[in-house]
Amino acid sequence: MNPEQIAYSRKINNLRAYVNQITDILNELIKKCKHLIICMHDFGGAYCDICGESFGWYCKKSPTKYCEYGEEDYINCKHCGEPRSRK
Ligand SMILES: [Zn+2]
Ligand SMILES: [Zn+2]
Repeated sequence: MNPEQIAYSRKINNLRAYVNQITDILNELIKKCKHLIICMHDFGGAYCDICGESFGWYCKKSPTKYCEYGEEDYINCKHCGEPRSRK
């Protein structure tokens, strides 16, 4: 690498290390969130209003407020019966 490329490469790698560090902090914070306020997107998806994490489909019948699937039936929600893939 020439000096210009070395500087360029260093810049990228320094930023990448910084991003990784920030991502760790972010993931740690999201992990601590208890997702107590689940809201519905316009398209029907569920998300936590506190941390912004997504949870598949919003579900009125589920205690968690998003669709959950069982081990034997992983296609249909065990609360509302709606399939995992829908339009
Ligand atoms: Zn949350
Ligand atoms: Zn459901």
